[in-house]
Amino acid sequence: MAVEKLETKDIAIIDRDLWERVIAFHGHICPGVTIGYRAALYASKLLGLSFSEDEEVVCVSENDACGVDAIQVILGCSAGKGNLLFHLRGKSAYTFYERKGGKSVRLMLNRPSQKMSRQEALKYYHELPDEEMFSAGPARIPLPEPAKNFDSYVCEECGELTGSNWIRIVNGRKLCMDCAGEYNRFNV
Ligand SMILES: [Zn+2]
Ligand SMILES: [Zn+2]
Repeated sequence: MAVEKLETKDIAIIDRDLWERVIAFHGHICPGVTIGYRAALYASKLLGLSFSEDEEVVCVSENDACGVDAIQVILGCSAGKGNLLFHLRGKSAYTFYERKGGKSVRLMLNRPSQKMSRQEALKYYHELPDEEMFSAGPARIPLPEPAKNFDSYVCEECGELTGSNWIRIVNGRKLCMDCAGEYNRFNV
């Protein structure tokens, strides 16, 4: 099935240049990336955030869907810098933290009142006022500590260098998690 191409020409977009940069990164136009775009802009307004060159801004996302890409582009919270973290719960919720001032906010997407096509949802999520789009509340997760560099060990099975935080001790041998295998006793 061909994916329907969505259009933004009849849509009021808050900052079209920024939106174009988000789409250049994400690859396609979709309602999902719009949710992250709006969340990043709303959080910027509430907390006075700008693009994070280092780890000044932290985002904890409760989903791993399209919207996360917009947050990376707009706020510089990225997987590589360690200031984009996941608390995967399948919710359209994002918590933003401003490390210096200690401010934070959790934005939860409100449920839309009607069923919509993807094109309608794209327009709806671009044009809905911030306060109607998201419920803003206090963070539920404490501000994560800054990213650390870990010592590394050589896995005694595969010989590959592995960060100490990811090493398992099995029968006295240091193993990477792939060589250690699954241990699911606590997963009941
Ligand atoms: Zn998408
Ligand atoms: Zn290994």
